[in-house]
Order: sequence, then C-alpha cells, then structure tokens
Amino acid sequence: METLQQRPIKVDPTFSTQVEELTSLNLSACFQCRKCTNGCPVTFAMDIFPDQVIRLVNLGQKERVLACRTIWVCSACETCTTRCPNEVDIAATMDALKEMAVREGVRISEPKTYAFHRAFLDDIKKRGRMFEGRLMQSYLLKSGELFRKLGDGTIKEEITLGLNMYKKGRLPLLPKGIKGKREIKEILG
Ligand code: SF4
Ligand code: SF4
Repeated sequence: METLQQRPIKVDPTFSTQVEELTSLNLSACFQCRKCTNGCPVTFAMDIFPDQVIRLVNLGQKERVLACRTIWVCSACETCTTRCPNEVDIAATMDALKEMAVREGVRISEPKTYAFHRAFLDDIKKRGRMFEGRLMQSYLLKSGELFRKLGDGTIKEEITLGLNMYKKGRLPLLPKGIKGKREIKEILG
C-alpha cells in the first residue's frame, strides 16, 4: 500500500495562513533552532519532531501534517513553547492542528488518543468539570477498548485500579457541581 511519504507532495500555499489565523501566531518567526524538539519529553513516540511540524506548516504540507501522529502524541506540556526564543507557541499550534484535522475529516492517526479527547471534552461540556468516575468508562466505550478488554479478561485490571483509586479517595462516586456550566458549554460549542 502506498504510504503518505511515497505520494507526490501536495502543497497548500494557504496552510500556514490558516494555522496562523486559528492561533494568532507568527509561525514564520521560527528559525529552526530545534530548542522545542530538544526539550520535548515525548519525541520518542512522534513521527515528525515539533520543529519539523512548524517547518512543514510553513511549507504548506497540510496533508502530511494533519495526518501525522505527532499532533495527537503531544501532551500539551508547553515545554517547547517556553523554550522557543521566537515566541512560537508550538503547543497551541498542535491544538489548532488537531482541531483542523477533525474538522476536515482527516483519518486520525491516533484514534485512541482522539477517543480520550472526546471523552474528556464531552464530560467538561456536560458537567463543567471532569468527573473521574465517568471518564474511564466513557473512554473505554468510545475507543472500543471495552470490548477488547472484556474479551481478553484485562477488564479486571481496570476494575482493580478503579477500586484502589476509590479506596485512596481519588475516584469519587458522584460528580461535583460547579457554577457557570452553561457558559462553559457555550465556550466549547
Ligand atoms: S524553538 Fe521556536 S524557533 Fe526554534 S525550532 Fe522550535 S519553533 Fe522554531
Ligand atoms: S507541548 Fe507537545 S510538542 Fe511541546 S514539548 Fe510538550 S509534548 Fe512536546
């Protein structure tokens, strides 16, 4: 099967402008010093390094960037953003690229990570804050992991973990309410 790297490179000359409009950043300020990549704690799991993501955005390689694993592997720790001498907010750029990939219906390279994002955001939209007691169930259902774990018996590990967390007071049985739920729902759309 033809891989993305083997296909002819498609260039979208408006791509960097689209990303800059979403983030209000000046990505062309990047001079490829690689300080972002050298500080990133999860490069071992990435297929394109953070400095390369910025470079590819500036080169209009939308298809390659939106299909990469890196944007989903990024844990939004902001180390790269803090280290950048040119105030390129790489973490915010990764978020914008995720948003763009979902909006444009690109095949998500890390579907389980996406399922976790959806489970987390749906919870925030519904309750205004995360309810740990519901998050894992929602993630397991959305990712399809529930059926796999039921099938191979590893669901027992999840149950044991949940019970241990409950005993240590880390897993409440009921969600806590907050003020401003409606406003949070409006922000998340
Ligand atoms: S640290 Fe900033 S300037 Fe250096 S490569 Fe990364 S984004 Fe570019
Ligand atoms: S925000 Fe993402 S890209 Fe930046 S250092 Fe953290 S994990 Fe790496």
